[in-house]
Formats: sequence, C-alpha cells, structure tokens
Amino acid sequence: MPDSPRSEVVAYIGLGANLGDAQATLCWAIDQLAALPGCHLLACSSFYRSAPFEADGPDFINAVISLQTSMDVRKLLLNMQQIENRAGRERPYHHAPRTLDLDILLYGQDCIDHPDLVVPHPRMTQRAFVLFPLSEIAPEQVSAQQLAVVKSQRIERLVTGEQ
Ligand code: AMP
Repeated sequence: MPDSPRSEVVAYIGLGANLGDAQATLCWAIDQLAALPGCHLLACSSFYRSAPFEADGPDFINAVISLQTSMDVRKLLLNMQQIENRAGRERPYHHAPRTLDLDILLYGQDCIDHPDLVVPHPRMTQRAFVLFPLSEIAPEQVSAQQLAVVKSQRIERLVTGEQ
C-alpha cells in the first residue's frame, strides 16, 4: 500500500472498553481522535453497554464515531494504536479485558486486505455492539436484516450520564 496523499473520506471507528472507567476512557479517546491532524469529528453515537463478545471480563461500553479525514488509513491505524497504548492498553492474552479497543470499521469506500489491516472490518457485521451504534449515526450503512442477525446479543443504549 503506497503512502500517497488523498482527498478526504469519511471513516467510521468503533470504540470499546471494559476495564477502568470505560465511559471516561471513551470520552477521552473520542477527543484524541477528533484532534488528530486532518481529522474532523462528524458524529458520535450514544454509548452502549454490551455483553462481552469474543472477550473476557465485565460488560463493555461501546460507541461508534465518524471522522472526516485526509489521513492515510495506515497512519490512522497507527495513531489509533498509540491512543490505545496511552489509555494503558495491555495484551496479556487474546480476548483479554481491555482499557480501550479502537477499530477502523469503514474508510470511505475502500476495501483493504492486508495482514495488518482489513477494511471493512471483517467481523463488524457479526457484532451488535458495532451495528447498533453505527446504525444510529449512519443508518444507510446497516440493513434491517443485518440488525436482525445480531439482535440476540445483549446490548443496551445508555442515556447520557447513566452509569
Ligand atoms: P486488537 O488486539 O483487537 O486491538 O487488534 C488489533 C490488531 O488487529 C492489530 O494487529 C491490527 O493491525 C489488526 N487489524 C486488522 N484490521 C483492523 C481494523 N480494521 N481496525 C483495527 N485493527 C485492525
């Protein structure tokens, strides 16, 4: 993948956390993402509480944001990993609880299949904690049929300020 400048695209990013003050961490991470060079926050979903899915530990807090960005997708991933690390992310084992997990769900219309980066995110359509917040801010990106497939997964939308 060559590192060439490109025009702006809309990227959708999934956020999740189930260690520490997850809601505060997500708020912090959204601010960090919005402050990245060439990035502008377009929309932020409600926060959701979801059962761990392919993960250990307590319930997760999740959200999805959209960013207008001119940042190269690999650079965006690198910046997201640095934000995860600054949030104290540790990877003691696969599926371990995490202080912060950031995923690129969509990056414009791009389809990327690289060992370190797959976009659209290959498991996004299996996850209620992605599809419900994504459908809130970008209903055109999620079909009723896709939502029906994940509706058995436990997830609830939090009202502002709810713990
Ligand atoms: P995780 O441990 O869940 O944070 O997974 C991060 C790993 O997934 C990293 O090695 C990334 O390179 C890889 N990865 C592949 N595709 C994506 C994507 N669309 N968004 C974020 N990470 C990705």
